[in-house]
Amino acid sequence: MNKLEAMNNVINEINNCTLCWLCNLRNNTVPGIGDLNAATMFIGEAPGEEEDLQGKPFVGKSGKLLRGALVKVGIGKDDIYITNILKCRPPKNRNPQLNEIACCKRYLNEQIDIIKPKFIVLVGSIALRAFFGKDSIMSDYRGKLYEKDEISFYTIFHPSYILRSPSTINVFLEDLTRLKNLMY
Ligand code: URA
Repeated sequence: MNKLEAMNNVINEINNCTLCWLCNLRNNTVPGIGDLNAATMFIGEAPGEEEDLQGKPFVGKSGKLLRGALVKVGIGKDDIYITNILKCRPPKNRNPQLNEIACCKRYLNEQIDIIKPKFIVLVGSIALRAFFGKDSIMSDYRGKLYEKDEISFYTIFHPSYILRSPSTINVFLEDLTRLKNLMY
């Protein structure tokens, strides 16, 4: 099976998933988007309202901020794959619950196995904790590389945090610039 067939199988599983109750609330699943041969995978938290409506990750307000920042620092959209820990939107964008993450993680693991990224960029503390444990602190990981299972993990602030605290935009851009220098 090639990568496209394998990913289509995962998308099919996600679209039919009823493992947690978020399936009852979704308009669309949001499996992920991007190049299946990308060396870099961005993993956010969960779809928001706009993502649920469009079935695509990071297309709402925070997505626009993230995508604009990627263009600004020179990370090409064809060089990355973007997805989330959860593939369905939590109600009112509340934080994903542990049982929802536990149900959904299998799909993310399958996506990682298909793409085999060199870098995984954890976008925000929910994604960070899903990989490095519930006590992981953003300030310990942000902007640094951590090796695990032969993948280099790099953590950045969630763009919704930058929207809430606009003065952090420079740190966000610096972190992405450092990432770009690692990637290219
Ligand atoms: N926030 C996320 O973490 N992911 C999205 O897809 C959109 C907003």
